[in-house]
Amino acid sequence: MIPFNRASITNLEEKYVLDSLRTKKICGDNKYTKLVDEILEKKFNLRGLLVTSCSTALDMTAILCDLKKGDEVICPSYTFVSTSNAFVLRGAKPVFVDIDKRTLNMDADKIEEKITDKTRAIYVVHYAGVACDMDKIFEIAKKYNLKVIEDAAQAIGSYYKGKLLGTLADYGCYSFHETKNIVMGEGGLLIVKDDKEYELAEMIREKGTNRKQFIKGFVDKYTWKVPGSSYLPSDILAALLYAQLERFDEIQGKRISIWEKYNEALELYEQKGIINRPYIPEYATNNAHMYYVILKDNETRTRLIQRFRENEIEAPFHYIPLHISPMGKKYGYKEGDLPITEEYASRLIRLPLYADLTDQEVNKVIKVLTEFLDEENKRK
Ligand SMILES: *Cc1c(COP(=O)(O)O)cnc(C)c1O
Repeated sequence: MIPFNRASITNLEEKYVLDSLRTKKICGDNKYTKLVDEILEKKFNLRGLLVTSCSTALDMTAILCDLKKGDEVICPSYTFVSTSNAFVLRGAKPVFVDIDKRTLNMDADKIEEKITDKTRAIYVVHYAGVACDMDKIFEIAKKYNLKVIEDAAQAIGSYYKGKLLGTLADYGCYSFHETKNIVMGEGGLLIVKDDKEYELAEMIREKGTNRKQFIKGFVDKYTWKVPGSSYLPSDILAALLYAQLERFDEIQGKRISIWEKYNEALELYEQKGIINRPYIPEYATNNAHMYYVILKDNETRTRLIQRFRENEIEAPFHYIPLHISPMGKKYGYKEGDLPITEEYASRLIRLPLYADLTDQEVNKVIKVLTEFLDEENKRK
């Protein structure tokens, strides 16, 4: 069986996790959390707060933006549930915007028509690690005085016009879930642009206390300062992430080479108009988070999934658009509201993509897929 995803775990991950256990200091913000902070700074010139997941990072952005009942928030429907849960949990209403056919990112030209006097923020998702059209989005945000949050869950190591995704907007959120490029099992990173708000975020992460300042030696006792919760991950998980960050270039190199192999093998099929491949705009880079194929229609996808299954290859699809999920319908959305989202969600399939996928496995996926597409071509 070729699974859809498999975490790449080596002796290095084992070594650091074991070392973390042996320090017997395994709560958050110990040896490995500090090493993660240092390597993020060194590799990406990035300052962020390690948190328990991208979902909790997103939750924290909704707290920092002070979103509440009566507020409206712009976001795509073609995304993972966490993007909208973050502000829905605070009572705000999701206002879904359709996607662009080529990138499957939120269509920046369709945002302005959805803005009302209740709109407070825009949550963008860099789908497949490929940047949204950020200049346009910032222009709208500025005009209507809206906060911008990047759900950069899939986007580590990817750029928009030379700027690291996750660092462009007021807040950015990364995921280190098992299915992302680098992993800590469950984990994430919150990036906060403003220094004052960064300090506030540190307190929210630490149960609303100023424990961080206490650790740094700035105060002799820490106390309850703001509403907060427990968003700081264990140092054991930080040890796992530290190893992955040291291996970042190696992991990325492998992912990119597999991505390119898929992309080359499918070029001809796109030219013949049988499928669509991922599109990377000039302003964006590709971090090889995902390889997807857009098939002719939903029925073709169903048959391809079946064919992959017969050949012991796991190839999933996503997402059920949020606006037609049971929760989306509670907000009054219905089928037909976002036609491009609905159509592309029904035609997309993802191929297995992870660092430890062997050449033999990649070749098998390509063989099964291209044979299927050749048959499709004859059928029409
Ligand atoms: C994976 C993902 C998340 C959630 O990340 P977790 O770390 O599992 O909470 C949120 N948004 C997007 C777009 C994702 O792909």
